[in-house]
Amino acid sequence: MFISVFDIFKIGVGPSSSHTMGPMTAAAAFLKAVQDGGAAFDPAKLTALEAQLYGSLAFTGKGHATDRAVILGLMGFEPASLDADVAEARLTEMRATGRLAPPGLPEVAFDPERHVIFDYGPPLAMHANGMKLRALSNGAVLLEETYYSIGGGFIATESELLASRSRKSAPPGAQQQSLGYPYPFGSAAEMLRMGSESGRTVAEMKLANEETARSPEAVRQGLAALHATMQNCIDRGLRTEGELPGGLKVKRRAKAIHDRLVAARGTSAAQPHAVNDWLAAYALAVNEENAAGGRVVTSPTNGAAGVVPAVIRYYRSHCVGATDPGVEVFLLTAAAIGGIVKENASISGAELGCQAEVGSASAMAAAGLCAALGGTNAQVENAAEIALEHHLGMTCDPVRGLVQVPCIERNGLGAIKAVSAASLALHGDGTHFMPLDNCIETMRQTGLDMREKYKETSLGGLAVNFPEC
Ligand code: SF4
Repeated sequence: MFISVFDIFKIGVGPSSSHTMGPMTAAAAFLKAVQDGGAAFDPAKLTALEAQLYGSLAFTGKGHATDRAVILGLMGFEPASLDADVAEARLTEMRATGRLAPPGLPEVAFDPERHVIFDYGPPLAMHANGMKLRALSNGAVLLEETYYSIGGGFIATESELLASRSRKSAPPGAQQQSLGYPYPFGSAAEMLRMGSESGRTVAEMKLANEETARSPEAVRQGLAALHATMQNCIDRGLRTEGELPGGLKVKRRAKAIHDRLVAARGTSAAQPHAVNDWLAAYALAVNEENAAGGRVVTSPTNGAAGVVPAVIRYYRSHCVGATDPGVEVFLLTAAAIGGIVKENASISGAELGCQAEVGSASAMAAAGLCAALGGTNAQVENAAEIALEHHLGMTCDPVRGLVQVPCIERNGLGAIKAVSAASLALHGDGTHFMPLDNCIETMRQTGLDMREKYKETSLGGLAVNFPEC
């Protein structure tokens, strides 16, 4: 499988890629399948729509607004194009009337309490984030489909997941080769070998792969749109104050920190470690926006959406010699690393804990910054490895299932580690003890050994050790 830069980075909405964007996308896909009907059934006979959420989607779905996401998907909304005001108006109308009007289908009675079922029993067998969607006609099932939200907003039906697991017998690089990509690297070792044989950087190889499916102009425009969305998100977060939704009474902090940094800049009050505060403010801004349901770029997930944008802002606003083409190099390199992690382990907190979310994001950001600052391919691989290695074992334990505590601060720390990792790698010549591939495999094994309560179920860790508000 080839994972594009536009798969790793997707424009969407908060608060969660796996629990909000994925379920919304799945519900919208199911809606299309019902609209099509085909020879199997007559869509005009529809009388009810129903969603059943399992595993982590059930345990943390309320905190992640999964029910809201599913309902919006059934109304035909999709994360990339969602207009928050229009969506809210449609939800208000649905609650007031008790009716849901899916486009192209008969209007149906809809009660969120009854038609979105949180199933706290065993998860579905194939993935921690499973859901079943049903279209009914007077109690009889017209269509039922099982979807899995597999992290970063990616979804798969049961048959797609089965097929992809059987394809896994072929290594990722071989799969890409069979699809005709010029640089079919499925591991960091292959990436380094191909770079050495071709004399190309990671970003150049990734760009060549991207250009098999899109024109160079389309790739450039897409990267610019991703960058603009990331930076707009930071700017909104740095302007906005107040309390985040969800009941934890968590206050937004990015604006206050940023205001103090701006006031102290260039004065004797500015501490040398203030650069860490700048990074944290940028990351907090994104994750506060994400927690409030705002527009973000999954990087590679929503929970970890602050790390890469924060480090890009750091590169653009604080680093000597930063350029716009450098941002493209950053994004392409970060996406190359994210694709390798996703192919060989996971970027899902529900599968492998937060090491797979913030750890992967930090590795991507470290690699991106290292490349943008002129690092060699070996230094880039080293930077990613340093950042990932020092997130190994990190659990996912969001309090009340909200992507707020520990998630928001964790992004700030992930960004700081990414910059340190890139800097350490740039001080070396790329030779180092632990290859990135081994570190990714360690993350996978560690995540599999983690008890379920530490994998986005909010049944362990900080999620059960917090003071009542
Ligand atoms: S703890 Fe980490 S993996 Fe879990 S929801 Fe928060 S950011 Fe995502």
